[in-house]
Amino acid sequence: LSERLSGVFDRLTKQGALSEADVESALREVRTALLEADVSLPVVREFVKAVSKKATGQAVTKSITPGQQVVKIVHDELIAMLAGDTDPGVLKIDSPPAPILMVGLQGSGKTTTTAKLARRLKDREGKRVLLASLDTNRPAAMEQLAILGTQIGVDTLPIVKGEDPIAIAKRAKTQASLGGYDVYILDTAGRLHIDAELIAQAAAVRDVVSPRETLLVVDGLTGQDAVNVATEFDAKIGVTGVVLTRMDGDGRGGAALSMRAITGKPIRFIGLGEKTDALEVFDANRIAGRILGMGDIVALVEKAQATFEAEQAERMVKRFQKGLFNMNDLRGQLEQMLKMGGMEGLMSMMPGMGKMSKQMSDAGMDDRMLRRQIALINAMTKKERANPDLLQASRKRRIAAGAGLDVSELNKLLKQHRQMADMMKKMGKMGKGGMLKQAMS
Ligand code: GDP
Ligand code: MG
Repeated sequence: LSERLSGVFDRLTKQGALSEADVESALREVRTALLEADVSLPVVREFVKAVSKKATGQAVTKSITPGQQVVKIVHDELIAMLAGDTDPGVLKIDSPPAPILMVGLQGSGKTTTTAKLARRLKDREGKRVLLASLDTNRPAAMEQLAILGTQIGVDTLPIVKGEDPIAIAKRAKTQASLGGYDVYILDTAGRLHIDAELIAQAAAVRDVVSPRETLLVVDGLTGQDAVNVATEFDAKIGVTGVVLTRMDGDGRGGAALSMRAITGKPIRFIGLGEKTDALEVFDANRIAGRILGMGDIVALVEKAQATFEAEQAERMVKRFQKGLFNMNDLRGQLEQMLKMGGMEGLMSMMPGMGKMSKQMSDAGMDDRMLRRQIALINAMTKKERANPDLLQASRKRRIAAGAGLDVSELNKLLKQHRQMADMMKKMGKMGKGGMLKQAMS
């Protein structure tokens, strides 16, 4: 995958802004790559559309190819889609005893994850945790949890033969209160497929304990199926977060992206093995890197961008500090003003300036003036632009004629330039203390 992507990105070596064609051809490969990573088709479509819109027209950072730039944009967009609003590692377990309900299909990793989570809460947060298995279909499953509990030093609710899941949930709730536990985690039964009975049972348990968190455990290797399961569980039971297991396998983790895009549920943890310490807080950045498989290029672009920005800010600060503000700088400013909607646009953005804007345009100070000034600067030689002090009478006449304007207009421009240069000098001096530098970075 990585090779295939690099291939197409290498072909895009044109510098400047990213053209629609650059972006489109790069994204055709991204689309295939995402599908291969097991991201579902509608999600891939939506993602590609969003990136295409964002990327087209973006400038290409110095020393980076357009293809590499696209990789970075794709990567950032992946992170944006994967990340939730809140810290995924923080569970709502403030008012003890806080119930956590674990749901999911059989074999998804519920019991293992229950133990992993308990271990994490105990070791990292010093919580007193009680575990209870509601898996009455398989006595071995209840034993499994008890054994794991002993291993990690966490209490499990004693097993009572013949009890149904609702009765166990009630007993766990009572025991958690009486025993002074901070958290109790209910490991429910699963089935190979979602059915009405499974859902009804989970819903009944939910109604008994009112869980603070309902975590859906899904096998991260099952791709599209995982998303269907999540959608269904969320619709029927209500899910507050997702745990993706088996992320230690070869899968690229595309299910994570589909999951986020389709269910909107935050991914909280990922399982990375069978042992009870193989649980990590979901990290959008890392999963994005895994789905795309181009971490080296992303790092390269980030470094180039940081270097470039620092260099640019440094250069401007240095120029200002030396009181340097030549005609090229002025032209840059005038062009910037035009881009922002000209004088009128600028004025209309400032409250109470509407009238003044009209007066200014009546006096001829409008976009046309900006354009005339730019024309005057364009009529200068390179040397003159770099050093406006060269402009004596004969040169002025030549420049004004070249721009098809009056010398008096050129004089106005030169006066304006002098004023701005003085101002820049003052700002530059102020900036020696670091203020300006800070403002520019
Ligand atoms: P449950 O039926 O949902 O309770 O699933 P279990 O917790 O019993 O797990 C089923 C199998 O998957 C067991 O063999 C676990 O050791 C294994 N398993 C669970 N989570 C992970 C994981 O993150 N990575 C790997 N490699 N195996 C896992
Ligand atoms: Mg189980």
